[in-house]
Amino acid sequence: MIKKVLVANRGEIAVRVMRSCRELGIESVAVYSEVDRKSMHVRYADDAVCIGPAPSSESYLRKDKIIEAAKLTGADAIHPGYGFLSENADFARMCEKEGIIFIGPSPYAIDTMGDKITARKTMIAAGVPVVPGTTEPIHDIKTAIDVIMKIGLPVMIKASAGGGGKGMRLVKNEEDIISAISGAKSEAKAAFGDDAVYIEKYISSPHHIEFQILGDKHGNIVHLFERECSVQRRHQKVVEETPSPIMTQEVRMKMGADAVAAARAVNYYGAGTIEFIVDDNLNYYFLEMNTRLQVEHPITERVVGVDLVKQQINVANGLPLAFKQEDLKQTGHAIEMRIYAEDPDNNFMPSPGVIKHIREPLGLGVRHDGYVYKGYEIPMYYDPMISKLIVWAETRDEAIARMKRALFAYKITGIKTSIPYLHRILEVPDFIKGRYNTHFIEENQQYLKKQNTSTERSIDMAAIAAFVDYITKLESLQTEPNTKQQLGNNWKDFGRKRSALRF
Ligand code: ADP
Repeated sequence: MIKKVLVANRGEIAVRVMRSCRELGIESVAVYSEVDRKSMHVRYADDAVCIGPAPSSESYLRKDKIIEAAKLTGADAIHPGYGFLSENADFARMCEKEGIIFIGPSPYAIDTMGDKITARKTMIAAGVPVVPGTTEPIHDIKTAIDVIMKIGLPVMIKASAGGGGKGMRLVKNEEDIISAISGAKSEAKAAFGDDAVYIEKYISSPHHIEFQILGDKHGNIVHLFERECSVQRRHQKVVEETPSPIMTQEVRMKMGADAVAAARAVNYYGAGTIEFIVDDNLNYYFLEMNTRLQVEHPITERVVGVDLVKQQINVANGLPLAFKQEDLKQTGHAIEMRIYAEDPDNNFMPSPGVIKHIREPLGLGVRHDGYVYKGYEIPMYYDPMISKLIVWAETRDEAIARMKRALFAYKITGIKTSIPYLHRILEVPDFIKGRYNTHFIEENQQYLKKQNTSTERSIDMAAIAAFVDYITKLESLQTEPNTKQQLGNNWKDFGRKRSALRF
């Protein structure tokens, strides 16, 4: 049985994984880059190892250093979180070879699903509907044009190795085909070192709906229902909710069964997500599978009542799933919003810097998965997401009201955040009605621009008041040294045995 887990990640997801480890009585090991020395995941872990300089290529992506850290600290398993090495089959293989349990699926499943063309072929063979398009990489422009004319414009040109919206081009006009293909190819080459691209029909009015999957090593696979992720900016999710406001029970059951079939096609075990693109008539098509925990997993945890990280660990331990499909149900409604250190009113410019003050939202039905604290400096090297705010309520309307309340209570000074922008999303009539697709953000610009409303002004005022309060306290600290201990470093070291280890 796993006794000590090294978390090969940083930020909120590293902390989130360690929380479940702590509940299970499993020790955790943090790895960190030189700029992350003061990061919360390092402080939270029982043990911590510095693995190199700030750039991810020299730290969080260094498989050799991470495995060495696991050996030196006696970790018997590695949890990769999301991003970084989470979908790297070579890393999973290296762990296996070194006798360390990789908390994730088999390298075979990662490989098959990681290449979108191979995944499409596998899904077709498994009888899961895929978006109409090619099943081979495009080699020459002439064939590409013939195929596109057959499918009909608009189409998407997509990188087989794609992820994070990179290497993807929408083509609406015939004259743009050549430049879209060469653009997608060069972007894919630069981002993934692989320029294979393929063609997919563009689904108009698309909804992004994904299914959470959980499988064990005994062939049991269940789905934990859907997540609606259609509020996207540049093909990146901004808000997620479950249940999907457009879903019917009949389609849910069909999609769920297809999601299980998709996972079964690669003998999947562990947690994974089958993403579908869905049109207005609820026709759905397999888009891709993410063979890891998703950023938005907490909404499923709340509505289905399952700790996905604990389940991942149980599966890695070889235990069978403790529940069957018929034991699972959705209760109430959950929404997640991603909070970024960026300025939504200045073209979403990243806003790294020192957190001067932070007050996290609390109260009934609110979960906050974050990692920044007062005095923490957000490094510029990594993804600017600082936290996720998740709310749950009996109904969707109540969940929206609760999210508004939580966003109102969430105060951060020192950096700009996307909080005001998220507030505006909750005021958009189409969002309130649950009638939106992936065009939501571009179609609702008039609501999403900075508003000169009394609510926004009062939020600004509250932030200023908090900051003034902070400065006043700081000044009093300089004259009253005793209060310094009370107000100073809030973090406790949980009696951790820190390895005096430096690479
Ligand atoms: P990535 O792996 O880069 O995130 P995905 O294949 O998951 O790429 O697609 C990301 C988003 O792009 C989807 O959620 C959807 O909004 C849009 N998209 C992708 N393929 C299509 C398509 N065929 N038709 C319409 N929209 C699409």
